[in-house]
Amino acid sequence: MSTDHTIAPHGGVLVDLLVPEGERQRLLEDAQHFPKLVVSERELSDLELLAVGALSPLTGFQAEAEYHHILETMHLTSGLAWTIPVTLSLTDEEVKRVGGAEAVALLAEEGGEPLAILEVGEVFKRDRQKEALAVFATEDLEHPGVAALHEAGDFCLAGELRVLRLPPHEDFLEYRLTPAQTRAEFVRRGWRTVVGFQTRNPIHRAHEYIQKCALEIVDGLLVHPLVGATKGDDVPAEVRMRCYEVLFEGYYPKDRAMVSVFPAAMRYAGPKEAIWHAICRKNYGCTHFIVGRDHAGVGDYYGTYEAQRIFEEFEPGELGVTPLMFEHSFWCNRCEGMASPKTCPHGEADRLSLSGTKVREMLRAGERPPQEFSRPEVADILIEAMRGA
Ligand SMILES: [Zn+2]
Repeated sequence: MSTDHTIAPHGGVLVDLLVPEGERQRLLEDAQHFPKLVVSERELSDLELLAVGALSPLTGFQAEAEYHHILETMHLTSGLAWTIPVTLSLTDEEVKRVGGAEAVALLAEEGGEPLAILEVGEVFKRDRQKEALAVFATEDLEHPGVAALHEAGDFCLAGELRVLRLPPHEDFLEYRLTPAQTRAEFVRRGWRTVVGFQTRNPIHRAHEYIQKCALEIVDGLLVHPLVGATKGDDVPAEVRMRCYEVLFEGYYPKDRAMVSVFPAAMRYAGPKEAIWHAICRKNYGCTHFIVGRDHAGVGDYYGTYEAQRIFEEFEPGELGVTPLMFEHSFWCNRCEGMASPKTCPHGEADRLSLSGTKVREMLRAGERPPQEFSRPEVADILIEAMRGA
């Protein structure tokens, strides 16, 4: 498959850590002799991203020198932009189990088949305070990313990965495209420029508007919902997927827009995660990436525009992917259409604005928000889901 008319992956080469079919059996037998480690749900997501090249140029879980370099400089030691270390945690007990082994087998669950073999590079102690401040800009344990960091072990195991098979999934199978597959699909559709949209929420009119504004200037739109671990009060992925399906059915041009899933876990790292998300989507073949207000934020840990401003801290062209920054958007009665503070001269009284709390209240009461806020088909799915919850 020719990739010469699509964007290059981060670092230039799309990583593929899956071992060839012919070597798998031998490696599976080798794996029986290695210490076994069960990988947490979040790190399993990272393992999958690594395996398929979504984290190109990374080829394994990162070592101590890279870890500190990223936290201090937002770059890999090679000089490439990178904002969040990708590590594999070990508890004290697991450190003993690894001992002096040259390799370990990684499992999704106790007694399961090995998914991957990690050639042990080094074991190092993580610096929780430094990591929390650098990645999440807070040490507050109420922050879901900081809380996850504190639940993880004190040590990290670094090393190159050879992946025997991808973590098994039972859901969204037709939407699980690897970066190689989305790239091939873009080529097949003749898209040279593609804008990626990260989401962990149902899509209401405001985000539909932003996506379509972006689509006006590129060939195609990839709606790329994150389906790894999120915090408990986010709308579950299977409900969100049904919302995307009805939205695509009714309101999106099929030859210009597609949905596939991003198997990452949510970190809620705001600006640092905005850069990380953009780089990942470049690996999936996106030339452009939408950055809204408070991208990947949670609570009020980050300023409204911080996730947009962080892009200015990189040299032009350094990230490769072009961020498209968007304002908050809304329906305006006087404009008679969707608009933003950039395009609408009218006041608050003419603009339809509903708080997240208000929308949840309406849905819980079985009431559709105005169709200028949410497509009725989407509202019905959310009402139905809340009834079941
Ligand atoms: Zn207006």
